[in-house]
Amino acid sequence: MMPSWTRNDAIVSLVGAGPGDPGLLTVRGMRLLERADVVVYDYLANPRLLSYCPQAECIYVGKKAAAHSMTQDEINALLVEKGKEGKRVVRLKGGDPFIFGRGGEECLALAAAGIRFEVVPGITAAIGAPAYAGIPVTHRDFNSSFTFITGHEKEEEYKDPQAQARQAAAGSSDLDWAVIAKLPCVAFYMGVKSLPRICEKLIENGMNPEMPAAAIRWGTRPQQRTIVGTVGTLARRVEEGGLKPPALTIIGQVVSLRETMNWFESRPLFGQTIVVTRTRQQASDLSDRLTSLGADVIEAPTIELNPPADWRPIDEALSHAGEFDWIVFTSANGVEYTRRRLFETGRDVRAFGRAKFAAIGDATAAALLEKFSIKADLCPERFVAEALADEFAARQEIAGKQFLLLRADIARPILRERLEQGGAAQVLDLPVYETKAAQALPPALLEALDAGEVHWVTFTSSSTAKNFVALLGPDYREKLREVRIASIGPITTQTLRDLGLEPSVQAEQFNIDGLMDALRNGRGA
Ligand code: SAH
Repeated sequence: MMPSWTRNDAIVSLVGAGPGDPGLLTVRGMRLLERADVVVYDYLANPRLLSYCPQAECIYVGKKAAAHSMTQDEINALLVEKGKEGKRVVRLKGGDPFIFGRGGEECLALAAAGIRFEVVPGITAAIGAPAYAGIPVTHRDFNSSFTFITGHEKEEEYKDPQAQARQAAAGSSDLDWAVIAKLPCVAFYMGVKSLPRICEKLIENGMNPEMPAAAIRWGTRPQQRTIVGTVGTLARRVEEGGLKPPALTIIGQVVSLRETMNWFESRPLFGQTIVVTRTRQQASDLSDRLTSLGADVIEAPTIELNPPADWRPIDEALSHAGEFDWIVFTSANGVEYTRRRLFETGRDVRAFGRAKFAAIGDATAAALLEKFSIKADLCPERFVAEALADEFAARQEIAGKQFLLLRADIARPILRERLEQGGAAQVLDLPVYETKAAQALPPALLEALDAGEVHWVTFTSSSTAKNFVALLGPDYREKLREVRIASIGPITTQTLRDLGLEPSVQAEQFNIDGLMDALRNGRGA
């Protein structure tokens, strides 16, 4: 690697992380994270965004820090120090860096130290949270302005003389309530504690107490919670509902549109915390789809994948792979490990010659297409080994044929046995990757289980079920008592039953689509 001091693109980038949904980061923000040396991030920046920068040193400076919170001066000093080291620094800030985010102060400190900086705007909470609460912040029928206000003002004196004058006139505030009370739509940041005073001031200054108002906590995240009322009632409702910061309050007629426009909180899996136990490599597809239906996903990989200890038998088989009649893959991972090895040993797809391909499962078939541009010749309708063996038998493709099975080390032996019994000329059965149980479950999952916050655990194979239970410990049934279980198919279900766990739903189609359908339908069960 190049020593960092030779870099001529060292810069401190203030990047808006957006309001919480990781998909609301800008493309530029993502690119900067991908090449950052150091990332300095806040409480309000979603830590999931750090998956873009595994290479970077990540420093948490948020107020909920375990040790102690950093003061703004300390944060400024840290940015200056890292900037001086010639590092590519991303200062990742919730929402937009310049909207009540003290980004201005950080830029001034960097400028004073002569360090180059840039600013990447983000979607601010007052745009993101109402959008996800079904509230358009402007609408032609209701308002032609929209105002951002902080409900938590600076306690010391303002530097700017005009602000000072407003502060003096208003007592302790630079907010002119008589003006604000006439505005058609306002958003208050940081206003949970001062909400009673804010609403009081607005009414005192002539706002109709019936004006619709809403407080939105953790907007755009799966935990989003919205309390609706009027300027007259919201403070009490928020108090009664126990709504805590971070929350944004929006006041204006447009809030009434939420009744018909509440698209996010009405998603089928909204409010459900769902655990995904697949390997890290495979989790993202399932996680993304669950998230897009509104679920809060906790990834708890129970299996790690590793290359086989000895590649020699595989290299040997690949050197004459074209002589087989059928090459069988039982998983997308098998396809990927085979592809990597093929390329590493200087070969390419031509090594397969005229062999035909069979895949168990549509994800495996999709991987074959994506990684090798090969269309599977055979993919049974039911995604289990038995169904593939039946298909081979029905097509009279077993007797006298040569098979190469490229699979996981833990695949069941049933396919090999059926092929051998059917009189195959050769069945070369090779594990192309090894699976190992994960060492531990993520602390976030254990905490959520203890707190009774987990609604579903999904199992996509027998081994995920066995490993998950082993990692939970002997009292696993007790720990899972309140949790519903979703199984991808009959084999996994049988394993769960053997473990004394009864799935609430089982996929009708034994793949991720099937599992998604089962969860969607099983929600109310
Ligand atoms: N720079 C940030 C705001 C920082 S001030 C931005 O542009 O959004 C912190 C306040 O922002 C919080 O107290 C809360 O009022 C609001 N906020 C930030 N993220 C939020 C979210 N996801 N949902 C609701 N309010 C949020």
